[in-house]
Amino acid sequence: MRACADARRERSSVSLIAVSKTYEADDIVPVIAAGQHQFGENRVQEAKGKWPALLAARSSLMLHLIGPLQSNKAREAVALFDAIHSVDRPSICEALSKEIEKQRRKPLLFVQLNTGEEPQKAGIAPGDADDFIRRCRDGYGLDIAGVMCIPPVEDAPAPHFALTSKIAARNGLKLLSMGMSADFAIAIQFGATHVRVGSAIFGSRG
Ligand SMILES: *Cc1c(COP(=O)(O)O)cnc(C)c1O
Repeated sequence: MRACADARRERSSVSLIAVSKTYEADDIVPVIAAGQHQFGENRVQEAKGKWPALLAARSSLMLHLIGPLQSNKAREAVALFDAIHSVDRPSICEALSKEIEKQRRKPLLFVQLNTGEEPQKAGIAPGDADDFIRRCRDGYGLDIAGVMCIPPVEDAPAPHFALTSKIAARNGLKLLSMGMSADFAIAIQFGATHVRVGSAIFGSRG
């Protein structure tokens, strides 16, 4: 990927998550055939409809939940997904912690940050992030691997990526889920380890 070379990053240090939300299995199969291994969905229910069959055919695939999670979907989410990018409140921590123990599955966990402090958006405010991450670990025994952000559409993304990276670093977190079709190259410059790219791969969602 050219964005990696431009940022002097190893290609292998950045995972490309192909965001297949709203696309049918028939659209996803050719992308798998082209060698793409990691996919993202933003709804548990939608993912449950199309992914079990696709996953059964290929053991190397990795499925990421990048959208909001309700506690009553934690069982299904832990069963289906290899990574969850939307850990953002104590009730989710509690539900995930129970299911991880019960199912003996350990999805990669990311705390979602609301770096723009937008009222309509999910995620933890930057000022609460350190406390929340500590609570995930000490209060719920969750092994948090990284942080995720979705910058406000009207803002330049760079300061949001820089802040996300700083919060990760001071909490000893190695993984950064940031960057979408419009801004993944900038995110990679700021250290993204997981970029979530939908429309640039699948085409615009009608
Ligand atoms: C849809 C979505 C993406 C992908 O967006 P594109 O602009 O299509 O690349 C990335 N992250 C999240 C959380 C999404 O919901």
